Amino acid sequence: MEDCVFCNIIAGKIPSEKVYEDENVLAFKDINPVAPVHILVIPKKHIDKIINVKDEDSYLIAEIFKAINKIAKEQNIDKDGFRVIANCGENGGQEVMHIHFHIIAGKKLGTKIC
Ligand code: AMP
Ligand code: ZN
Repeated sequence: MEDCVFCNIIAGKIPSEKVYEDENVLAFKDINPVAPVHILVIPKKHIDKIINVKDEDSYLIAEIFKAINKIAKEQNIDKDGFRVIANCGENGGQEVMHIHFHIIAGKKLGTKIC
């Protein structure tokens, strides 16, 4: 998708600080981190929202969680813990319409709704 910021990151047209890449998945540092570790994990295939993941693409969600597992170990946040957040739609606070999972870590996160 030409006008999608994350597709442009995948295409290398917008710079990013990559932390992980494989055939299906890309992970890079969030430009506006809310914690010492704030990484976004995305499928290379453009899908706008979690609610629109088709059955034939559901394996990509498993691939994303396999990547999250590897990234957590590489970033040394696997022992202390981390939070994974995926926002969907307007009420969910989704700003970028290409599905993404936030990995947030590096400090003790408060108890809140997400
Ligand atoms: P969400 O509100 O769940 O859609 O989150 C979108 C996230 O993308 C925000 O945390 C932004 O800081 C982040 N973001 C937007 N543009 C970029 C970019 N060019 N590089 C890295 N992160 C970005
Ligand atoms: Zn996209």
